[in-house]
Amino acid sequence: MTEAAGGAQIYLKREDLNHTGAHKINHCIGEALLAKHMGKTKVLAETGAGQHGVALATACALLGMECEIHMGEIDIAKEHPNVTKMKILGCKLVPVTRGTKTLKDAVDSAFEEYLKDPVNFFYAIGSVVGPHPFPKMVRDFQSIVGQEAREQFLAKMNKLPDTLIACVGGGSNAMGLFTAFLEDDEVRMIGVEPAGKGLDTPDHAATLSLGIKGQLHGFECYNLQDKEGNPLPVYSIASGLDYPGVGPQHCYLKDIKRVEYVAADDKECLDAFMKLSRLEGIIPALESAHAVAHAMKIAKEMPKDKTILVNLSDRGDKDADFVADYLSLY
Ligand SMILES: *Cc1c(COP(=O)(O)O)cnc(C)c1O
Repeated sequence: MTEAAGGAQIYLKREDLNHTGAHKINHCIGEALLAKHMGKTKVLAETGAGQHGVALATACALLGMECEIHMGEIDIAKEHPNVTKMKILGCKLVPVTRGTKTLKDAVDSAFEEYLKDPVNFFYAIGSVVGPHPFPKMVRDFQSIVGQEAREQFLAKMNKLPDTLIACVGGGSNAMGLFTAFLEDDEVRMIGVEPAGKGLDTPDHAATLSLGIKGQLHGFECYNLQDKEGNPLPVYSIASGLDYPGVGPQHCYLKDIKRVEYVAADDKECLDAFMKLSRLEGIIPALESAHAVAHAMKIAKEMPKDKTILVNLSDRGDKDADFVADYLSLY
């Protein structure tokens, strides 16, 4: 891929090689352990692409905890393999039929269930979002990504990467990578949001690029909202990225200009998905492919001795059928 891009060297942090295939297991194990320690009877969560649901159901199976996952009907249809896995793992899956039938409505639905018995239920949020202490807690569990990447990169290259790139939905895989490098002023950091069908259409989820400050799900952040302050329906080809808000620390990092936030559209994402698959034999998740797309875009403008480290948040098993169908590969 480095040769094909024709510039800076591209490295991948392989979170796709984790058990369950994504970075989400990092915070799910932490959340399930905490729930058990606190003596909670049920662990509850929302899921978008189903990755958080599978990871949480996995952690709950491991620890013998009851697990209930709320998921939009559209995502249930699109992410069938993850739905099957959640059923096998023994969690209760609640289909959400309201609103856009995707992630934002799944969060509302799961919050409502949680409020029925907050003393005995534990809400295991799926990203660095929600009220305190969720963003901090999920970030701390995810910070292992950056700790490992920093150590491995230093060991291999004897220097730090010049640029870090991660996709941003709620922002957990990006915060997980960025946290270990925040004090390294020479390391440039870029978060990539989904531009969907284009930033000039309503079909995107580019919260930091185009959002305004407002409140959502119990916290303040840049978000995409209508004139009344209600969250707008958002869209991305990657179910895990279509959330109208974003973690508060990302908003802060944008404000202080420590991290740059850009967007990649569906077409660029699909192109990167196919390129990484065919050039390296690594099929990425559509979410992660947004980060890969931006890496290939800027690599060619950078000298060959510069390095880019991309967080490959997930593998593409869950998206393979969808992409093959979408691109008429059959
Ligand atoms: C959930 C998910 C995301 C988006 O969530 P973040 O909190 O922004 O990391 C990105 N990539 C994959 C593979 C996911 O499953």
